[in-house]
Amino acid sequence: MMDNVFFTHPEHVSANRLELVDQEATHASKVLRFKVGDELYASDGRGNLYTTQVSSISKKSVLADILETDYDPEPTIKKVLVFGAIKKRDRLEFAVEKAVELGAWEICIFNADHSERSRINEDRLQSIVLSAFKQSKRRWLPEVTYQNSMDEVFEYYPKYHSMMAHVEADTHHPENLSYNKNLLLIGPEGGFSAREVELAKKKNTQMISLGKNRLRAETAALALLSQFLFTT
Ligand code: SAH
Repeated sequence: MMDNVFFTHPEHVSANRLELVDQEATHASKVLRFKVGDELYASDGRGNLYTTQVSSISKKSVLADILETDYDPEPTIKKVLVFGAIKKRDRLEFAVEKAVELGAWEICIFNADHSERSRINEDRLQSIVLSAFKQSKRRWLPEVTYQNSMDEVFEYYPKYHSMMAHVEADTHHPENLSYNKNLLLIGPEGGFSAREVELAKKKNTQMISLGKNRLRAETAALALLSQFLFTT
C-alpha cells in the first residue's frame, strides 16, 4: 500500500534491487507483516520513489526487486529554515517536524546570541525528520545542520537570499518569493540580538514582520514557511 513509504539509504539501492535495514526492516517485517511477494514502496530521500516486490524478509533485512522508479527533481525554490536553538525540547521538535511537512529543504539550528544553552539530541531530531519525511511522502530528505552562531550560518549558506522574521520590522510582505535559494531566519524565545540584526542587514537580509502579535518561535517558523506553499 502506498500508505507506507519506507526509507532506504541510497547506498542500499542497486540497479534492480534495494534493501531495507534497521528499524525500517523491523517495521516492515514485524509491525506491518510484509511477506515475500508483497508490493512495497520505498524512497531514497534523493528524489526516487521505488515500487518494489519483496523477495526476502527478516527482522534485520528486507530485500526487494525494483519494478519501477519514479524520480522527482529537486525543487527549484529551496527554503532553509534557520532556527535559533530553543531550550524547550518539545517546541524545537515540533518546529522541526512541521518544517519537514511544509517542505523545508534543510533545517539549520544555530546557537543564537539569546539561545539558552542546552544539549540538543541530534539522533532524536534525525529520527523525527525521517518519520515526518515518510509521513508527508516527501521525496527529498531534508538535512539538519548545526551552526554555532549566525555568522557561521551565513558562511555555511553563501549566495542565499535571506529573510529575517523580526518583531520590529515594518514590512509585512516578503518582497519576492521566487528566489531559488532562501534562508528563513527565526529567533529564539529571547529574540535576535542587536548584533545579529546588524549582521543580517549587512548580508542584505530582508526584515519581515509576521503581524502585530508576538508569535512563539515555532509558530513564526511555520508562518514564514507557509508563505511558500503557493509558489511553484
Ligand atoms: N522576546 C522576543 C520575541 C521572540 S519570539 C522579542 O521581543 O524580540 C521568537 C522569534 O519569533 C522572533 O525572534 C522572531 O524571529 C519570530 N517572531 C515572533 N513574532 C513575530 C512577529 N510578529 N513578526 C516577526 N517575527 C516574529
